[in-house]
Order: sequence, then structure tokens, then C-alpha cells
Amino acid sequence: MENLYSTLGCQNFVGVEELRRSYLTLVKEFHPDKHIDEIGHSSNCPNEIHKPDVKEGQNGQTVAGNRLEKFIAIDKAWKILKDIELKEKYDLVLKQRLLCQDWPIQDELEINEFDEDTPNYVHVCRCGGKYILNSTDVRFHLDYVCCDSCSLCVKILYLQEFPD
Ligand SMILES: [Zn+2]
Repeated sequence: MENLYSTLGCQNFVGVEELRRSYLTLVKEFHPDKHIDEIGHSSNCPNEIHKPDVKEGQNGQTVAGNRLEKFIAIDKAWKILKDIELKEKYDLVLKQRLLCQDWPIQDELEINEFDEDTPNYVHVCRCGGKYILNSTDVRFHLDYVCCDSCSLCVKILYLQEFPD
């Protein structure tokens, strides 16, 4: 699952005002209309995301393509996190992810190996407990989920586009 806060160059769970400042800065840097030579950012900027893509090919096309991809990702992250309701939902999913990723991984499962149990998606753990995803988890591609009764965790793969 991509971390939308990192995409915006921010710490997890920061407020909308800080996200907005970072978004506005990044948009100026990565706007696809802007020529690479015009950015003029310093290479000693401590923030990884603000550094120019030096390793990504000699050819301008590739760099422009990467910049466009970054711009799209930044824009998408901002559209979700600026929305208070979506941000709350995303924060919950991210918290669950951060909690689970340190647990022992029992298995990797594709999302389509979960059974639909509206409004949730469920997979039975070997202990008899359940791995439960709700529609928000799936929407944000939550990639780690803990069993509801033991300490195991599975990694979820989203290999195919999953319908909302
Ligand atoms: Zn279990």
C-alpha cells in the first residue's frame, strides 16, 4: 500500500495545513508543464522527494514520464488527504497497517482469495479466527491484516484491479 503521507513528503498523520504546504511546493516542482532545467532546486535538500531524478535515464522523455507519474501520485494523495472524511478513513487503514506490519507474516494472499461477506472481505485463519477487511481497507489497498483471534498476520496482494 502506498503511503500517501510519504508521497506528499510529510510525516504520517500530519494535519491538512501541513499537507497543503507540502503539496503546493511539490506541485510546483513536479508539474509536467515545467521543464526539468527550470526547477532549480538544490541537491542538498534533505527531503528525498525534492531531489531531482539523477539516476533515471539520460533521455528527457523518461525523466518527463517519471515526473508526470510523480505529479499524478502527488495530486491523487492530496485529493484523498485534503478530504477530512477520507483522511480519517485513510488514517485508520494506515494505523492498522503500521500495527500489523511488525507481526509475524503467516502467508501472502491475493485479495480474491478473500470471501465476500458484505460489507467485509473475510479469510479464515488456521486458528479458526478471521482476517477481516472492510471496503475502506480494500479501497486503500491495505496490505497487512491481523487475525482477529491470534497474533498472525497475512500480507495481501492486489495483483489485479479489484472492483470497488
Ligand atoms: Zn489466527
